[in-house]
Amino acid sequence: MDLARAFPDFDPARVVFRDDGLLVVDKPAGVPSQAADPEVPDDLPSRVRSLAAYLGTHQRLDAETSGLVLFTTERTANASIAEQFEKRRVKKTYLACVTGWRVQDQRTTLRHVLEGKQAVTHVRVVERRGERALLELDLETGRTHQARDQLTRAGAPIAGDRMYGGARAPRLMLHASALEITSPSGKKLRLTAPTPSEMSEWLEVGDLGTRVYDDGARLRAALGLAFERRWGLLRAMPLARATTVFRLANEEGEGLPGLAVDYYGGYGVVSFSGDLAASPDGKARVLDAVASFGFDGVYDKTRPKHASALSDAEREAMAPVTPARGAPAPSPLSVTEEGVPFLVRLDAGLATGFYADQRKNRKRVRSHAAKRRVLNLFSYTCSFSVVSALGGASRTVSVDASASALERGRESFAHAGIDLATHDFVAMDARAYLERASRRGELFDLVILDPPSFGTAKGGRFSIASDFPALCKLAFSVLDAGGSMLASINHQKTTQDRFRHMVEDAARAAGKAAKVRDIPPPLDYPGGHMKAVWSSPA
Ligand code: SAH
Repeated sequence: MDLARAFPDFDPARVVFRDDGLLVVDKPAGVPSQAADPEVPDDLPSRVRSLAAYLGTHQRLDAETSGLVLFTTERTANASIAEQFEKRRVKKTYLACVTGWRVQDQRTTLRHVLEGKQAVTHVRVVERRGERALLELDLETGRTHQARDQLTRAGAPIAGDRMYGGARAPRLMLHASALEITSPSGKKLRLTAPTPSEMSEWLEVGDLGTRVYDDGARLRAALGLAFERRWGLLRAMPLARATTVFRLANEEGEGLPGLAVDYYGGYGVVSFSGDLAASPDGKARVLDAVASFGFDGVYDKTRPKHASALSDAEREAMAPVTPARGAPAPSPLSVTEEGVPFLVRLDAGLATGFYADQRKNRKRVRSHAAKRRVLNLFSYTCSFSVVSALGGASRTVSVDASASALERGRESFAHAGIDLATHDFVAMDARAYLERASRRGELFDLVILDPPSFGTAKGGRFSIASDFPALCKLAFSVLDAGGSMLASINHQKTTQDRFRHMVEDAARAAGKAAKVRDIPPPLDYPGGHMKAVWSSPA
């Protein structure tokens, strides 16, 4: 596929001003000002570098905030611009969409003391629509984070602000809309960036919910916004760490209820659930919109609410073997994650054989695996075992109730070029395996515990609340002193805090002194339900 269609280069139309040693651009939401990983240059300066031989940076803007960012294009411009920023002589104006703004006056000033520092923001109401309001902010002190905090304290968090409990929106609705500065040659400049369409639309109608699926153009814009956040994964990763499997759009968290889009080496896999799954028109519009980004083929997976009540034929129609748009993918298809090859099948039911949300966890496991004995419980196609082996594990044991999943695990090992001599595959109930290993006094240095939130356990359904604590305690009982555990679940109702406590309690119950830390969710799953913790010896 032509990657530049779904993950475009920086659009020169976003240059707002270019003269007099200055370059000012309108940054899209989702583009970081600084690369989180120096090896993955997905930041704004790297992306606009092709526009100017020299770029001097004077400002940052949070990844989720859109709007004006100024650069110098000549070194001689730096001194005067730096001085104006330092002395706060640059006037920056922001626009924010909020709910709950009750102040009647058109203008007001918010004053707070935040972490011992004065925070002052002048607020002007631009427009009101019921509960919603568009505010213009003039930050007298501090950075954009201050405005998010102050507005929350005033009872009006910014829409889409997940950290502060803002109303539902496809992104953080904060935009750097105007900048006043004196150019190096002494001209007074007032530069502006138009209000992003998703902000005007949110003000007009609020959260679109499933209405986002009523109109192809709107849907394409929402998908484009989501894809922008993943630009660096595909376009900025060095080849040795190439990742060609990740989530492109994540449901509710990105204003797309009932819709997940995954990227698999040039192909798109679209998963429908909830109301969208029952709307043939909505689904067709989604498939068209996704296909318009130029994927080689687009597969349809539909997860109806009551899947267990379906006949085999109905079930098959839920995940057609042929793509809904474009050409079929090879089966199996080879994809890479941080340079590690995996095999997936886009034509074999609802699951593809790979869960991209574990990317960071696999990376962590790989870097801790050297010389360790690794136990991978609920291993599925053994992705954690493959990265452990590549990370130098002395032994891996993959346990899963499904013999066919383990068979695919063996294939994955072969595909990654790993000799199977020190790697075992055990088709067994995980709990029964742990009980046996514990009886035999078998020990491991690294245990991965990733049970399904609803699966089949010995004697019935697996439930997080009633089965996880005992299972986790058993897992700790086979962990050698000095060993670590990665535990994760994909369960909406269990919070990160609750999950961490469950793991801490299980360690204590097993008589292990463990330090349990949260692992933050991956960037391509905003608002996702996966929770993960890492337990190391205290
Ligand atoms: N950790 C895997 C994904 C796990 S999916 C990865 O990152 O790739 C859940 C797996 O649990 C499935 O493969 C399913 O076959 C297995 N499973 C369900 N119930 C089980 C049980 N009681 N014992 C062992 N495996 C079970």
